Amino acid sequence: MAENVDAIEIAKFNALADAWWDPNGDFRPLHDINGPRMRYISDLVEVAGKTALDVGCGGGLLTEALASLGAEVVGTDMGESALAVARAHAIESGAKVDYRRIAVEDLAAVEPGHYDVVTCLELLEHVPDPASVVRACATLTRPGGHLFFSTINRTARAFALAVVGAEYVMKLLPRGTHDYAKFIKPSELATFVREAGLDLAAISGMTYNPFTRRCDIGRDVRVNYIAHAIKPRGSSIAGDGSV
Ligand code: SAH
Repeated sequence: MAENVDAIEIAKFNALADAWWDPNGDFRPLHDINGPRMRYISDLVEVAGKTALDVGCGGGLLTEALASLGAEVVGTDMGESALAVARAHAIESGAKVDYRRIAVEDLAAVEPGHYDVVTCLELLEHVPDPASVVRACATLTRPGGHLFFSTINRTARAFALAVVGAEYVMKLLPRGTHDYAKFIKPSELATFVREAGLDLAAISGMTYNPFTRRCDIGRDVRVNYIAHAIKPRGSSIAGDGSV
């Protein structure tokens, strides 16, 4: 299989790399949602002392948050510039994170069942084959472990807010950051999750108000949402998600 990576997507994020840790820069919405999504995860899973993997980690916003809660964290991305920024920031902040440039399917082949917690946030809408990423994440998780996936719903409202509003009207994100056709409906993500042999525990909506910069996690899945899945304890290490 060809690598499950879209070179244009990687170039797009590489070009923005300097902005990763600027709370008012091109990744401002990620900064604003980072606290709430981290709390959502840490309310559901005790991450201290656990092995965690953050897939598509970018500059390391969530990755460092996981490390600060006491997890032993690996962050992966296919963008070399994002990883360079992530590594430099971890040196400054003292965060202990192992950053690697490796496709998630390749990591799954060498570290099946290795991680207690796998996070894959705001990545699936940027890859050619999101189901393959979900399968690889499932393989990487130990039986009984937890997974979190977040992405953008394919609705008219998401097009209006996440593409037109954020990129063209408010200029919160650079134009072309998101491609509507790659957005994923919760039902589609639920299918990927189940087909990877995982139990879907919850899908929660994530709302973001760019004026107040407030993010709430609740029932409204019309634009952004986050899914929590569990790898059944009875699964083999590789699970049904073997790649
Ligand atoms: N998960 C981070 C960053 C999201 S931005 C956060 O939520 O804060 C999307 C990231 O996915 C970018 O860093 C980009 O380089 C990365 N990416 C895009 N395609 C990828 C792929 N196929 N494999 C791994 N990372 C990828």
